[in-house]
Amino acid sequence: MRYLRTLFTILFTAVLSRQAAAASPDCAYDPARTHLSRIVAADSTNGPIYGQMVQGADKSQVRTLALLDHEIVLTFDDGPLAATTSVILDTLDRHCVKATFFPIGGMALLGSKTLREIGERGHTIGSHTWSHPLSLRSMPFERIKAEIEGGFAAVGQAAGVPIAPFFRFPGLGDSPEAVAYLASRNISIWSVDVVAGDAERGATPASIARNTISRLERLGKGIVLFHDIKHTTAEALDGILTSLENSGYKVVHIVSNTAYQPDSRVLANPEILRSMAADAARTGKRTAPKPEELNEGVVTVAHSEWIELDPEVVARQRLAGAIFAAEPGM
Ligand SMILES: [Zn+2]
Repeated sequence: MRYLRTLFTILFTAVLSRQAAAASPDCAYDPARTHLSRIVAADSTNGPIYGQMVQGADKSQVRTLALLDHEIVLTFDDGPLAATTSVILDTLDRHCVKATFFPIGGMALLGSKTLREIGERGHTIGSHTWSHPLSLRSMPFERIKAEIEGGFAAVGQAAGVPIAPFFRFPGLGDSPEAVAYLASRNISIWSVDVVAGDAERGATPASIARNTISRLERLGKGIVLFHDIKHTTAEALDGILTSLENSGYKVVHIVSNTAYQPDSRVLANPEILRSMAADAARTGKRTAPKPEELNEGVVTVAHSEWIELDPEVVARQRLAGAIFAAEPGM
């Protein structure tokens, strides 16, 4: 059982080959030509923080992600959004690499088809709160919990598969209180090392590429933050990956050794569900291309299925079982 206490576990080629091949027959693992270098299973016990950019949290909770020189982790926030996320998924497939997505709960309910596509293509899915409040740190504690748990529940519901207990703070705005709650829930916090700058005002595909590559050159490795809702990112990604590949960078696919376990006590609170339904309506008006696509059904699904979604279904399909069963002795 030693592997359960290990921070990271490198899975062997058999697993790597099978996962890569499942997503695309052209991506059979070949270290000589594949841009994907390794699959690393990250542990979320007691809520470690991965990535160096920390604001209010205690820096002693930052755990070093065991990346080798020139190894990077690709992460995408704020989606899914069909028009841009699908371009990004095609680009990732073309380069035979895997990423970690941090969808917003409300976006996930609206874009569940795209979210399922992310899972089917073998990428890792975490969560980025229910409604992306940049003021999370100043919210009442009950609301912080609702944002976290509701976000995961909505993403899990929309994805249709168990998701990783990987959390990213909106705007990387962590706080000691929220970090402590996540630790109590065995949810890891994913900060970043390199910001692509695709959310900066006036960003262009050229500036995103320039920023990503020059910032990575300074560190030599790290977790890179992109946003899959940005047209500029979708446009820039192919060139960025080609450039990194030519410079000897390899992409590490991070997976989880556990699945997110919903907290039915939080989700059973009718006040939380009511406020989420209201938020879903607001999110829909802002993001759905056609307002009529956000119908009552979406909200009703949230009401009725978030609660019954949970512990048993997730427990039956624990990612841990799937991953470690394939690799005994790790
Ligand atoms: Zn975000």
